[in-house]
Amino acid sequence: MIIAIDGPAGSGKSTTSKLVAKKLDIAHLDTGSMYRAITVYFINNNLNLNEIDISSVMNSIKLEVLISNGEQSVLLNGDNVTSMLRSNKVSKLVSKVSSIREVRQKMVNIQREISQDKSIVIDGRDIGTVVFPNAEYKFFITASIESRAQRRFDELKDSDSNLTLEKIKEEIKNRDHYDSTRENSPLKKANDAIIIDTTHLNISGQVNEILEIINNN
Ligand code: C5P
Repeated sequence: MIIAIDGPAGSGKSTTSKLVAKKLDIAHLDTGSMYRAITVYFINNNLNLNEIDISSVMNSIKLEVLISNGEQSVLLNGDNVTSMLRSNKVSKLVSKVSSIREVRQKMVNIQREISQDKSIVIDGRDIGTVVFPNAEYKFFITASIESRAQRRFDELKDSDSNLTLEKIKEEIKNRDHYDSTRENSPLKKANDAIIIDTTHLNISGQVNEILEIINNN
């Protein structure tokens, strides 16, 4: 069984997906972490997106996703980069990196491989539209820009004292715009996805709404 959960930045989809998977006792894959890990590789190696041979760079990257006790870690050529994935520097560049066709091809192949022969909740931007268009369940999680920015701000404020709510709001808006207008697999609700608006829901409310739909089908 594949449960595809897509939505814009800060909608709570990864946290919700993780808990839904836990409740159903199945695997969870957060695909945003994979694009973030590739972005870490570009940053750490000072690669300029306009000056590289993208195919050979992608061939030199081995990306592995480990899932242990419900926690996901990402290894880049053997190094665990999980703690670097959610920095603001990565968030600012990730949309550019994820818009590259060769990057997406490699990530989608890995996502399909990981999901083979198992039940899984998989969250991202293009899961219901491109990666698993035949998923048994498809959800599109959204929330107002104000509540999404506030959630991200609360998550990051302790690690970066220069951050302001306004700054985060601008960044989220830019990222959503970039993600939804790109040529390759843009952020988009699949026609048959169920919308969950989480503006006025807390995480357990989001989880329950999804579980109810799954259990009643
Ligand atoms: O979900 P998260 O905010 O961690 O995703 C980071 C970025 O990765 C997104 O803004 C988007 O550019 C990219 N992404 C994507 N396709 C996915 C998952 C994430 O393009 N399936």
